[in-house]
Amino acid sequence: MSGPGPAVRTVTGDVAPSALGVCDAHDHLFLRSPRLPGQELDSVRAAAAELAAFREAGGRSVVQWTPHGMGRRAAELPALARAADLRVVAATGLHQAVHYDEDDLAALRARGLAALFVRELTDGIADSGVRAGLIKVAGGFHSLDAHARWTMTAAAEAHHATGAPVAVHLELGTGAQDVLDLLCADLEVPPAKVIFGHLNRFPDLEVHLRAAAAGAYLAFDGPSRAHHATDWRMPEAVRTLTEAGHGSQLLLGGDTTTSAARSVHEGPGMPHLLRGVRPRLERAVGKDLVDRMLTANPAAAFAVEWPV
Ligand SMILES: [Zn+2]
Repeated sequence: MSGPGPAVRTVTGDVAPSALGVCDAHDHLFLRSPRLPGQELDSVRAAAAELAAFREAGGRSVVQWTPHGMGRRAAELPALARAADLRVVAATGLHQAVHYDEDDLAALRARGLAALFVRELTDGIADSGVRAGLIKVAGGFHSLDAHARWTMTAAAEAHHATGAPVAVHLELGTGAQDVLDLLCADLEVPPAKVIFGHLNRFPDLEVHLRAAAAGAYLAFDGPSRAHHATDWRMPEAVRTLTEAGHGSQLLLGGDTTTSAARSVHEGPGMPHLLRGVRPRLERAVGKDLVDRMLTANPAAAFAVEWPV
């Protein structure tokens, strides 16, 4: 349960932010979407093996960005976290409409999305008793459609009720300013409670700097097969942002979204964050900053004064 002071809400309970240790701030243990047929992350055994490989590489915590209705398998998460001796954080929230059946979305509209998010953050996901520690939503390509505005409005309401951070999938890295305008300016979510994912897929440093200057966290994630032509620009982006004074707002994640990308299936997977990305970044910006990006920064980004 929550005590005095900020805590990170993990699937095995609330912990002091410093307990996260070396953190993969954006990843997936389970993920199912009609957009990724045949690539579902749905194997408990593979998830356990991937977590063990990440632990072996030096990892201590994983923040899952899989939202409601995409096969989160929340009830499995506490046992997986304990078996791997890792902290795992689960998400509520909703992805883009293309990831759902229209019938399911209609049911959510009738039920009330903000109430669902709050319930998953405070009571638990379905009847698992496992509580989410963040709200995941998504924008569109250089735009926010009606679905994105609906989900972000609900996310803001759930944020105001709980303090939970809002993690935003930026489609191909675009639309950060649209999200800041809606979520922060109109809906009054503090920018320091917003975490942008995928900015490295749109390596316009001016866009990165504006998002950071607004006060948001930037989660650089990947590598991605689809974005390998831009992934290599990430060290330069990190250096530029750091020199502009935003080193404490940078997070790192693996964002493993397909079964084939898992290290246990011969892909880079979660361990690559620590075996590939980490040394590459250390050569660009130094070990101290990379250590902060993997520990102190996620500890601050996911810390919340939970009401219950
Ligand atoms: Zn993701």
